[in-house]
Amino acid sequence: MVLDEPDRPLRATDLVDPEPGPGEVLLDVRACGVCRTDLHIRDGELRGSRLPVVPGHQIVASVLAAGAEAELEAGGRVGVPWLGWTDGTCRFCASGRENLCLLARFTGLDVDGGYATRAVADAAFVHPLPDAFADLEAAPLLCAGLIGHRALRLAGDPARLGLYGFGAAAHIVCQVAVHEGRRVFAFTRAGDEASRRFARELGCEWAGDALGPPPEPLDAAIIFAPAGELVPAALRAVDRGGTVVCGGIHMSDIPSFPYADLWEERVLRSVANLTRADAREFLEIAPRVPVRTRVTTFALEEAERALDAVRAGALEGAAVLVP
Ligand SMILES: [Zn+2]
Ligand SMILES: [Zn+2]
Repeated sequence: MVLDEPDRPLRATDLVDPEPGPGEVLLDVRACGVCRTDLHIRDGELRGSRLPVVPGHQIVASVLAAGAEAELEAGGRVGVPWLGWTDGTCRFCASGRENLCLLARFTGLDVDGGYATRAVADAAFVHPLPDAFADLEAAPLLCAGLIGHRALRLAGDPARLGLYGFGAAAHIVCQVAVHEGRRVFAFTRAGDEASRRFARELGCEWAGDALGPPPEPLDAAIIFAPAGELVPAALRAVDRGGTVVCGGIHMSDIPSFPYADLWEERVLRSVANLTRADAREFLEIAPRVPVRTRVTTFALEEAERALDAVRAGALEGAAVLVP
């Protein structure tokens, strides 16, 4: 499935099978998760370095062949996340922050991704997947899970955690946070009873209106929904010293708010991309929780329908494409 230009439907097409270059592996795609970021790319809110492009950065695949110097053998199962390549030498890479690499290439944006039957990836940026997860269940771990994990770590060590937007990422973070003994509060759109029920089912002790106050102040909040008005709402919901983490790659403008809402050492920050260390860490934690991902599957050709479902917030958990 190819995106020719922004804001146009993805197109099914037959491409020549890619060949692995030096250090790369050729992959047989078994499943690919659908992320809200794919929607931002599809809608033109996020532009990469090339078009047309095959989207998709939560790839579960088996290794068909390895190019020269690739330190991976054919036959294994791997996951390919958003971070597709870094230079390894810039000031960010050199200081353990490859997620901020100046020349980073992202899967499904700068290199073709997993909305396909075949893909190639840099062998140094793919990850073996825990056996405890079947292909479909593993797919959402690769972005919803990884970015959620990084966001949770950047939230500090909150006893009371708020999650704004209860989609693919929140449904995983919630399980990890509850496992770690945190109290979790879910904030959803007004009237979204289905999401609130789902959140309570997964261990949230409270689920309510995103713009309203929580039953008690929070120590941290993570915003996954792409709505800027949630930023001041979340700042008002956290206690003094609390942290608000914006987990999405794109958000509508943040309305102005009184300085008093930030005062008392509240912290507002974003989380960008992931490092390979984040991936290793989270893929180790996930089977221990154990995280149970809830997925809705779509055929590869139904990518547009899957993206619509993500746009409408109509899914419980994550959407996954199956070639
Ligand atoms: Zn770099
Ligand atoms: Zn993603």
